[in-house]
Amino acid sequence: MFNLILFGPPGSGKGTQSANIVQAYHLQHISTGDLLRSEVSRQTPLGVDAQKYMDQGLLVPDEVVIGMISNKIDENPDARGFIFDGFPRTRGQAEALDKLLELKKTQIHLVLALEVPEEDLIKRLVGRGATSGRSDDTEEVITKRIKEYHAKTEPVAGYYHAFGKLQRLKGDNTIEDTFKLLSAEIEKHLQPA
Ligand code: ADP
Repeated sequence: MFNLILFGPPGSGKGTQSANIVQAYHLQHISTGDLLRSEVSRQTPLGVDAQKYMDQGLLVPDEVVIGMISNKIDENPDARGFIFDGFPRTRGQAEALDKLLELKKTQIHLVLALEVPEEDLIKRLVGRGATSGRSDDTEEVITKRIKEYHAKTEPVAGYYHAFGKLQRLKGDNTIEDTFKLLSAEIEKHLQPA
């Protein structure tokens, strides 16, 4: 098994690059943002609760996202590996993920962190807001999401660095060039499917 975390601030390209990685390496994609948006659109009890946080640019409580991740891992027993996108976003989530994977006799092998200057992030997200229909892609909420990223999520990079699993990459080139950088790192561990 090969388990990868795609790490980076909102707007750094995690969703776009996850799709490329899934296609090339046949990993099972798990995006907590997508899972939460699906709960919101179906107005499940979890979705109704999560929406209050998402609309304010705040992180949804750890226990909610950890439960979703655990279910998703259990639903895919034959996966070649997982690509985690937008998770873990807190140290508590990172520790919980380690425990879940340990139960499955596996682990996180690599964390690829996309680095993009802050002014580019805001431009990208405001641009996406024009067409995404996402209620959290307004300038006010974007600013809060980036603040929440610096306060709670950035420290997660240090957690994986301490285990020698973190690799930082430049994320402000073209989509193709960024994918090449990501692929070069992945192929130190895994060949294309
Ligand atoms: P982005 O990375 O562009 O901010 P996401 O789609 O990953 O977008 O997340 C959208 C929102 O969903 C976040 O602002 C947050 O409210 C919630 N969310 C997603 N993933 C998590 C997570 N792992 N922990 C807590 N909240 C999350």
